[in-house]
Formats: sequence, C-alpha cells, structure tokens
Amino acid sequence: MKPSPFEYVCPDTLAGALDALAQDPDYSKVLAGGQSLVPMMNFRLARPERIVDINKIPDLDGFEVQGDRLRIGARTRHLSVQYTDQPGPLGNLLREAASHVGHLPIRTRGTFGGSIAHCDAASEWCLVSTLLDAEMTAQSTARGTRVIPAADFFQAIFTTALEPDEILTSVSLPILDDNWVAGIAEFARRAGDFGIVTATAAVQVVDDTITEARVCIGGVSEVPFRSAAAESALRGATWSPDAVTAAAEAAAEEVDPPSDAHGDAAYRRDLVRALLPRALGQAQKQAHEQVRKTEAG
Ligand SMILES: Cc1cc2nc3c(=O)[nH]c(=O)nc-3n(C[C@H](O)[C@H](O)[C@H](O)COP(=O)(O)OP(=O)(O)OC[C@H]3O[C@@H](n4cnc5c(N)ncnc54)[C@H](O)[C@@H]3O)c2cc1C
Repeated sequence: MKPSPFEYVCPDTLAGALDALAQDPDYSKVLAGGQSLVPMMNFRLARPERIVDINKIPDLDGFEVQGDRLRIGARTRHLSVQYTDQPGPLGNLLREAASHVGHLPIRTRGTFGGSIAHCDAASEWCLVSTLLDAEMTAQSTARGTRVIPAADFFQAIFTTALEPDEILTSVSLPILDDNWVAGIAEFARRAGDFGIVTATAAVQVVDDTITEARVCIGGVSEVPFRSAAAESALRGATWSPDAVTAAAEAAAEEVDPPSDAHGDAAYRRDLVRALLPRALGQAQKQAHEQVRKTEAG
C-alpha cells in the first residue's frame, strides 16, 4: 500500500513547525520517528494532507534534570532511553521498559514523545507516564506553552488532550529517591510485539514497610489503568509475598478488560494476576541490590 498524496515540510525551528501546523491543523500531522504514523498512512488509516517533520528541530531530544524531575525531550529515541545513564530507580525503570519496546530498528527511529502522542494503551511510555504522574509540555502558536498532567492527557485509544495544532515538546517525570523501587513485566506472543497485558509498579519502602505505592496496568482498558485497589493493598503493608499476592488479586478483580483476538477478558485478568507479582519481584530484586551495594560501602 502507498499513502495518499501529501505535502511534506521539514522546518528547522520549532516556531516554523508550529506555523506550518497552524495553517491547517485538522489536515496536518507531526512526523517524529514514523514508526506508527507511516504504517497508518500506508494502510490509509491516516490521510494527512500535510506532514510536518520535526526531525531537524534542535533541542527536542535528550535528558535534563530539573530539580526533582527528569525532563525527556519528546524526540528522544527509544534506544537513547534504553541506554540512559539516569541513576536510581527511575533510570532502572526507563531502561527496563525501553527494552520491551518493539525491535531494535523501531527503537532506533521511534520516539518517546511519539509513543505518548500516539496513545496506544499498551505502549510502555504511556504506562510509565501514567504510573509516575508525568507532566506533558505542549506548544502551539495559538496557546503558547501548556503543561498537561498524565491523568488528563490520555483520554481514549489513540486520543490525547493534544490539540491538532500542538507539538509535544517534552515529558517530565519525578526522580524517585532511593527508597523507591520499580519494575515492569509484560506478556506478548512474540518478542517485540506490544504486550497483551503489561504491569508496572513503583513502591516506596521504609524499614520493610510500603509507605507509598503506584500500580499501572496496560492492555485492560482504553488508556493505561492505575489500580487504586492494588495501590491501597500495598500501602502500609509489610513488603512480603502475601502483600504482593493481595495486590495482584486486588488488581485482577478491579480491572474490566476487553475481549479481542489476542485474549478474552478472563485471560487478561489472569495475566494481571501473574504479571503484577513479576513487576514487583523485579522491584524487590533492585531493593536487594541496593542493600548489597550499601553494605559493600
Ligand atoms: C512492529 C512494531 C512493533 C512495535 N512495538 C511497540 C511496543 O512494543 N511498544 C511500544 O510502545 N511501541 C511499539 N511500536 C510503536 C513505536 O514505539 C512507535 O515509535 C511509537 O508508537 C510512535 O513513535 P514515533 O516517534 O515513531 O511517532 P510517529 O509514528 O512519527 O507518530 C505517531 C503519532 O504521534 C504524533 N506525534 C509524534 N510526535 C509528536 C509530537 N512531538 N507532538 C505531537 N504529535 C506527535 C504523530 O502525528 C502521529 O499521530 C511498534 C511499532 C512497530 C512498527
């Protein structure tokens, strides 16, 4: 299949790209890594009349620590996230999550912000952003800069709070201190596929007690699902296999997954039950490693 005809513009400034979008926002599309947009255009599921390529705009990629948050440029490639040298639990989570994103060629081209703007509920970056209450920064000529919290950003499958004339410029995540540990586990039929179900968790542990917990599940709803039931099962509990099992059971009961060709609702619920303990197990392994490093001096 070939895409329908379109005009291609490749501005070398953000202002130029925003102007190009503003001329005809409803018929224009931003091109970042092209790993979702180009296949959609080839299948004629998307028929933009103008493509605004953001690959020549400076300063849209990379990592910057700003106080207690990490700002990730929207055009940062998945592969750069996989090899980020960000220390601590946030760095561990980003590297582990990136390793699940597609295959190497997809990670080489596809971008962090592209995944978030595309808004597939199974996308690792949509999950991590929801888990950690990320803040998305968007710019347009009409409204300038605005910051959108993750809870308001992801609205439905392939639908976000971004307006058609806006460019997502960066995403900011809280830097978790060393009392936090985090993990991600997913099940996909083939390596590199989107997970049928993915579980992510981050817990703050002080003296073996879980003082704060975040749990987010992908593949069970139109947007990543924060499991309040699992979070409250973990919060205040002693970090133990029983607490993990209780959280997994609570999440499995709370989700209301769809049935489709990849698995019915009961199967997805079982995957939640199986995967949340794996995500928490990965987190616990990190906790043990931290203790070992501290004891080794
Ligand atoms: C075979 C295959 C397997 C894959 N597996 C996975 C997987 O396991 N997990 C996963 O998360 N992803 C997976 N992907 C998708 C991949 O991660 C894409 O990179 C990602 O979905 C989109 O990022 P992109 O930079 O390629 O965006 P593009 O394809 O260029 O754009 C996607 C959409 O986002 C919009 N957009 C992009 N950037 C911006 C911006 N800065 N501001 C405003 N709008 C913007 C575009 O207009 C378009 O609508 C897979 C893709 C393929 C082809």
